Amino acid sequence: IPVLQLRNVWKTYASGAVQVHALRGVDLDVHAGEYVAIMGPSGSGKSTLMNIIGCLDVASAGQYVLDGEDVARMSDNDLADIRNERIGFVFQQFNLLPSQQAWRNVELPLWYARVRSAERRQRALDSLARVGLADRAHHRPNQLSGGQQQRVAIARALVTDPALILADEPTGNLDSVSTEDVLGLLDELHAAGRTIVLITHEQEVAERAQRIVRVFDGRIADLAVGAAS
Ligand code: ADP
Ligand code: ADP
Repeated sequence: IPVLQLRNVWKTYASGAVQVHALRGVDLDVHAGEYVAIMGPSGSGKSTLMNIIGCLDVASAGQYVLDGEDVARMSDNDLADIRNERIGFVFQQFNLLPSQQAWRNVELPLWYARVRSAERRQRALDSLARVGLADRAHHRPNQLSGGQQQRVAIARALVTDPALILADEPTGNLDSVSTEDVLGLLDELHAAGRTIVLITHEQEVAERAQRIVRVFDGRIADLAVGAAS
């Protein structure tokens, strides 16, 4: 069973009297344990596709099954729960709460999922240990390097044991050393069986994935990666 399956997905925006077809019949399957990169020029529909994959927005038409759930016509409340519990988000800007210690940031999705506090704390600490930051649990974001902050964000993404890790330009804000650090961690997570979808405009970053999906003018072309690591 695929972790995600998009079938003939369309997204149409009304821009005044004009309709913009941001996605025009996208088909995409991502199977459990796959590592897929999505690339495409500005305006091609990448953000629209990522928002639909991440259940941040819904398609205008077509099918979307995520982790066995038909999410295409789900209510906003149900989508919010699916988003929190089945998808681990990693963003370019880390999106950490600056006043909160690392472990408090990591426990947040469990808090939304109404997990009890002792279990939240334990799972947050375990997740930080998994990304190599056991000794940084009580640091605040501004006491950590950019690469470490992104590791905290990845620990937060993992804490619910999600079906999918969705990483939107996760290295866009990092220097080359931290970029390698974060890409190495994604490689490890993939090797451990995680399903990862990475959105990037950088070819070298995309080539770390097993498969590159290119978006052009609201349609996709799927290419195997020759030099997969
Ligand atoms: P990308 O992320 O590849 O730059 P987007 O998904 O942001 O592409 O945009 C795809 C197309 O949809 C573009 O033509 C863009 O102008 C249009 N678009 C995106 N969001 C909206 C919106 N909220 N309203 C109207 N048009 C939009
Ligand atoms: P980008 O800069 O790549 O567009 P943003 O950081 O603006 O990404 O986030 C995109 C959207 O995701 C925003 O609407 C934000 O509120 C939402 N978002 C951020 N973190 C989470 C989360 N953990 N769960 C669900 N939605 C989130």
